[in-house]
Amino acid sequence: MNRVLCPVCNVRFPLRDPDSDPGDTVICTVCGACLRLAAIAPEPVAERAPEPPEEEINGRIDRFAEMRGFVFDDGREIVVEGLLQKYEMFGDFYCPCRMENVDENVCPCLDTRSGSVKRDGHCLCGLFWLPDAE
Ligand SMILES: [Zn+2]
Repeated sequence: MNRVLCPVCNVRFPLRDPDSDPGDTVICTVCGACLRLAAIAPEPVAERAPEPPEEEINGRIDRFAEMRGFVFDDGREIVVEGLLQKYEMFGDFYCPCRMENVDENVCPCLDTRSGSVKRDGHCLCGLFWLPDAE
């Protein structure tokens, strides 16, 4: 199966639809990013779909939470605001609770994608929660 590199989380995920065409929208199964296929051959290349920042991050965290079975609480609005501020200041949705604006801290951050929510009941920011840990 063809795999495509997600430019958001830097992980290769399987391209499920064998009939995908350039211009098609695909969702990263690792981080929930909405991507657009820029090329199919010789290997698939995906880029971030052009979306307004607010739609991009809200869509991404909604899809990520749904895929992992996480939920949000009242703190969501504040964290999203922090993410949008980071985007404006540093050019990407870096975790507002971390100092370092590096790839692994782009939301959903590597820690969160690697199981911190299951371990702690929530991510560092309190954006993603386990359903029974609210
Ligand atoms: Zn991804």
